[in-house]
Amino acid sequence: MKKFVKKITLPLVLLGLSFTQMSCEELFSNQPLEEIRITGKTMGTFYNITVVGSYPGGAEQLQYDAENVLKTIVDEISTFDPNSTISKFNATRSNEPIEISNNFADIVIESMRVGKELNGAMDITVNPLVNLWGFGAQKVKGFPTDEEIATAKSNLGLDKIHIEISKDKNYIRKSNPNVEIDLATVGEGFGADKLAQLLDRKGINNYMTSVAGAIRTKGHNARGAQWLIAIEDPSNEQQVGKNLTSAVCINSAALSTAGSYRNYRKGADGKRESHIIDPNTGRPIQHETVSVSVIGNSALWTDAVDTGLLVMGSEAALKYANENNIPIFTIVKTDKGFESHSSRAMKEFLDCKQ
Ligand code: ADP
Ligand code: MG
Repeated sequence: MKKFVKKITLPLVLLGLSFTQMSCEELFSNQPLEEIRITGKTMGTFYNITVVGSYPGGAEQLQYDAENVLKTIVDEISTFDPNSTISKFNATRSNEPIEISNNFADIVIESMRVGKELNGAMDITVNPLVNLWGFGAQKVKGFPTDEEIATAKSNLGLDKIHIEISKDKNYIRKSNPNVEIDLATVGEGFGADKLAQLLDRKGINNYMTSVAGAIRTKGHNARGAQWLIAIEDPSNEQQVGKNLTSAVCINSAALSTAGSYRNYRKGADGKRESHIIDPNTGRPIQHETVSVSVIGNSALWTDAVDTGLLVMGSEAALKYANENNIPIFTIVKTDKGFESHSSRAMKEFLDCKQ
């Protein structure tokens, strides 16, 4: 979830869609199938849906249904809303269990699972650090001291939160009263998954849903071909959308991208401090990996993994992806410009046969 919208707000998928349309137009001479496209705002960014064929009740009904789905999620996981479930959990300094929905439990359980797999590079208890570095709901001046960072770090850790499932109810509990969670980095993926589930329930077999850089696709596009998604080149921020590094082709899959180049604060020395924080150091990532894209089955999973891999940096991320057969694509800033790398499992998706 975007904390605040920076000067460049074009979501990745919008680029993907326009690129998809442009390329397919050239590649296919047959008439495209009927489709519905809608877009709107959510989580401080944009969502998009493309349905190939029709939706019961048309585009207006789709928009209504989609926004209902997204609102339910935002009402629970927005740290910007003091009345959200997450804000209540973060504010409490007691270890009494708080009742949570199935959605909330699903997000936390999956995020914790991925976090542990990635040795804490993605850690939803990062919230105290996010606030300290000025990426939370409250504006802050300057940057934190070493002492403040150390204090915030002492409240981090997935072992400090507990999910309890009893009968048909779910609860979340703190074992350290100061622990706070942040689901911003997985909210978009979960949103894209939930939009996909909405379409599945309506019996739609060919669609693309996205929330910012988290995408879910099923079946084929309006040209009867694979969904073609552009991975954006961050080298020229003024020209976002014109520099497309690579295209990825998927049928029914999730794809998401974590980037360090859109959301940052500038220090007095002009140095950029990214909103992606390494829980190990307690500081914004310092290396030159600017984005990591991941393909998987659920956007909740890819959105959790992409953040962790970005924290690890391109080299370690590629090693992990190759060992675990995960399709990933990374972009790294070098002295000579930007370089891209892909894991072995990514190759088949880059080799688009349209
Ligand atoms: P992107 O710009 O890559 O789409 P997101 O908006 O999905 O990023 O997620 C970035 C947000 O995730 C940050 O603003 C912060 O709230 C949170 N975050 C930062 N570092 C981590 C981390 N290591 N693990 C989990 N969440 C993080
Ligand atoms: Mg992510």
